[in-house]
Amino acid sequence: MRRLVLGLVLALFATAHGLALQWPLESRDPAQSQDPDFATSVKEWTTKPEFLSPLVDHLPVVPGVPMPKDVIGHHIGEPKKLTYYADMLRYYRALDAASDRVTIESIGMTDEGREMIVVYISDAADIANLKTHVEGYKKLADPRNLSDADVRQVIATTKPMYQLMGGLHSGETGPSEMLMELAYRLAVETSPLINDIRENLIVAITPAADADGRDRYVDWYYRHLIDIEDESDRITGPPYWGKYVFHDNNRDINFSQVSMRNLLDWYMRTKPPIMHDLHESIPFLYTYSGAAPQNPNLDPILFAELPMFANFEMAQLTKYGMPGVWTHGFMDGWSPGYLGSMAYNHNGLMRMYETFNNGGATTMKRNLGGRGGSQITREWYRPLPPYEEDMWSMRNNTNYMQTAVLSGLQYAASFPKVVLENFYKKTMNSIEGGKTTAPHAFIIPGGQKDQTRVALLVNLLRLQGIEVGLADKPVKIKDTEYPAGSYVIKRDQPYGRLAKILLEKQDYPDPNLRTYDDSGWTMGHMLHTDVVAVDDSSILDVPVTLIDVAEAKGRVAGRGGAGLAVAHYGSNNMITLRYRLGSAGVKTAEAAFKAGGLDFPAGSFVIPADGNDLAKARAAVEALGLTAVALDAMPDVAMHDADLPRIAMFSTWTSTQEVGWVRHAFDKFEIPFDLIYKEQVRQGNLRSKYDVLVIPSQGGSGRAFVQGYQGPDKPIAYTKTDRFKFLGEYGSSDDIRGGIGLEGVLELERFVQAGGVLITLGAASYLPAEFSLAPHVTATRQSNQFYAPRPIVNAEITRPEHPIFYGYDKTTVPTKYTNGPLLSVPDAQKSLVLAQYPGGDSNVLSGLLRGANELRNRAAIVDTPNGDGRVLIYATNPVYRWQNHGEFNMLFNALVNWNDMN
Ligand SMILES: [Zn+2]
Repeated sequence: MRRLVLGLVLALFATAHGLALQWPLESRDPAQSQDPDFATSVKEWTTKPEFLSPLVDHLPVVPGVPMPKDVIGHHIGEPKKLTYYADMLRYYRALDAASDRVTIESIGMTDEGREMIVVYISDAADIANLKTHVEGYKKLADPRNLSDADVRQVIATTKPMYQLMGGLHSGETGPSEMLMELAYRLAVETSPLINDIRENLIVAITPAADADGRDRYVDWYYRHLIDIEDESDRITGPPYWGKYVFHDNNRDINFSQVSMRNLLDWYMRTKPPIMHDLHESIPFLYTYSGAAPQNPNLDPILFAELPMFANFEMAQLTKYGMPGVWTHGFMDGWSPGYLGSMAYNHNGLMRMYETFNNGGATTMKRNLGGRGGSQITREWYRPLPPYEEDMWSMRNNTNYMQTAVLSGLQYAASFPKVVLENFYKKTMNSIEGGKTTAPHAFIIPGGQKDQTRVALLVNLLRLQGIEVGLADKPVKIKDTEYPAGSYVIKRDQPYGRLAKILLEKQDYPDPNLRTYDDSGWTMGHMLHTDVVAVDDSSILDVPVTLIDVAEAKGRVAGRGGAGLAVAHYGSNNMITLRYRLGSAGVKTAEAAFKAGGLDFPAGSFVIPADGNDLAKARAAVEALGLTAVALDAMPDVAMHDADLPRIAMFSTWTSTQEVGWVRHAFDKFEIPFDLIYKEQVRQGNLRSKYDVLVIPSQGGSGRAFVQGYQGPDKPIAYTKTDRFKFLGEYGSSDDIRGGIGLEGVLELERFVQAGGVLITLGAASYLPAEFSLAPHVTATRQSNQFYAPRPIVNAEITRPEHPIFYGYDKTTVPTKYTNGPLLSVPDAQKSLVLAQYPGGDSNVLSGLLRGANELRNRAAIVDTPNGDGRVLIYATNPVYRWQNHGEFNMLFNALVNWNDMN
């Protein structure tokens, strides 16, 4: 009845405006007054009529409730306007204060001290009742103690939460703008469409997932990008988004970054059934549907739900006449390491868009045929392709993304019970799958010498809500007995699916299929920690005590007063201990010895009582989870002083992300260093300031370091000013153009000749090979057929006595393969090679490597003495995304033994 009256009113309204039909009939409430200024502005900023939809061509005016313009001074999508994070928060707070349909939760602080929030929007009664709905999601996320009647009751009384996230990638500026207008529209509009959404869903909004990067990018936009109106004049983005990483905040599989961790913690507290991550790249709007290869552990229901939503959105926007909305042919469903993967890894639904944008709010002519034309063809998954070229504006971006999001919400609001049923069913499937399908559990056997990596592994699983049990008695499965103290991860639990995803070997289904990101991530390999899959279902009945966190308890045995010996069992905390002891006279044993009944491998620290505070050392050992013995007498082995080097880490101005991961690891393990750039290298005199210079993976050729960023004909400053206070962070430059130059290469050579240690990692290792800093080493590239989306491969340690391998007790070890150069060394210099790749398919441990024979006997790490110093060249990337902890020591050992590698 209500609908009929509404329809009549709408028909009258339409006639009055001279239109044949105001459609869709659901998109406006004729009783609600609309802002004429908004309608006029949006029409003007939209570059073609078909780039606008009836869902977003109007904005209601509601006295007492601020629209974005009332707080931030402009309508969303105005050319050359971007909003700083603090202004976004001001807007959301004002909206919250004015509307009982909105509430805000604070979810933690960023690295740089910005407050992260989630904004909830629904009917007033449900906002008041938010906790009850969240309790409902939690019940469905772990229904083990619910009866069928309970489940029915929860589904009948709970509204699904649909979370939307913008600004994970700071250069993708549109979503964070659009979300403010969406929040307002959802809070105030009384059209049938929006009423339905409010009545059936709770919408949650994360305004900018990388809030630090948002402000830095907006500063950069206003300083350098705003007046660039020609696509071919575009320049690089700011040297940094957040503190450490750029796009890789969406590859942080272990949630190491503070903001990503805050979002995970919020997820684990809230369990929204749908998370929708809003990105920007390709034209005009791509909606994710989970193309092949699909991770087989993810629920088949997921891959049916994804196209269900995507097809509905594509159909709606196509119906509104908006070209260029498509699905399927861009992004697959293999890696579980994207930020939004937290939703489908936990039995929910992750959704994702890519909307077209210009890297800011400046309207620009964009050529799309230039992308090989591959995204402008008509296909079954792209019925109305984007145009070959067009003027594109921020408002176009807002129109597309908001219309699609509203359509996604419309769909979810039409089937709220289905959303919840699916969430429940996927959870049940995960639990049942653990009972019916091997492996039924994973065991981390007790008694592993380095308990710090065991604890890290367990705690990374716990972070994601995976239940881990501790066995206080030996666990016997058929003929194998695991000692007391083993950890057991049973798969008949809600997140048994995720445990399998993270712990098993990644068996890539088809070598002909490409994948968007990593193909292999098996955690036991990455942490060099034993993990055993158990196929016998009797493991499910083994009694264990579920633990909250694992603690690596350090221990100090013996009562001797001669000193303290600290065993190097491969813990990355060894270097932290060394730095915590500061100027103390710590020695490194060059050979294995026994003391107090324990084996001390080469590389163990010996801290003599003479001149040291042993009580402090003891406390540090215990706090860091290490193993030590108080010595009756000093061991009778060769030792050298574990001198602490003065460290510099080099970064180019335009490739700071891999450097960021190494910076992050150094900060976490308390390794001090100076971050230096081309300016400091060109100044020279490096040896007087530093002992070790680390160049993390970047560049991809020697020339890239020498030439640097070529850029436009005017200086590009990255400096802090009164106007641009978020620039000049983590380094500062009056002009980021150019590289270290040939004179910089000479300075590096002088540094090495004078006794410095130059360390290059991954792609940076082309530099010493191509510019004769390591005369015997050549670096070449893989063939065009070679394809290695970062699998895990074996490396053979050929010089196990070398100090960089202190703490490694095997000579064949898993390494992350990150496409560093193919290194060669002449036969006469083979002794320089510390590790090599055996190559071949049999040495691919997890994930995909096409062309594994190209690696056969290629050097993986080379130590090249040069003058009084040396160059350590890694084709590997020993510090990759807080992931390959088992390799970190191959770098850390080089630091602690920098002047003892002869
Ligand atoms: Zn993105």
